[in-house]
Amino acid sequence: MGNRKEINENRMGTIIIIPQGMMGSYARESLLETALRQIAIKYSNDPDIEWAEKYGTKYEDGRFMMHPYCWCGKDECKWCGDAQHPNFFYKPIGIKVWWYKYIGRGMDIEPDNITNGQVAEMLNDLLNN
Ligand SMILES: [Zn+2]
Repeated sequence: MGNRKEINENRMGTIIIIPQGMMGSYARESLLETALRQIAIKYSNDPDIEWAEKYGTKYEDGRFMMHPYCWCGKDECKWCGDAQHPNFFYKPIGIKVWWYKYIGRGMDIEPDNITNGQVAEMLNDLLNN
């Protein structure tokens, strides 16, 4: 891991600095995991009580939906039943993420060709607007 940094600047002028070491095969998942934790903290009503950084939070608006992993096991549940709703859905570019119990654990990501630039754009949109 070197000292060089990659800098990604979006149209809002916000800068996200990605350490060069994150640009390997797990780069996208690492950046996405960081993004999800920050989004959960920002949109949680009480990030300490629900431990939003670890589990996520329940939130939905016109731009995105987040829902913690659900343990209810009911067939009619959108997250436990056949519907298999994602734990995170960013609507403008259709990013969907599923995780097992905790953000970052066993994550499934759709579509599978999301770029770090798109993740950074999403993060800037949700954290700065
Ligand atoms: Zn459930």
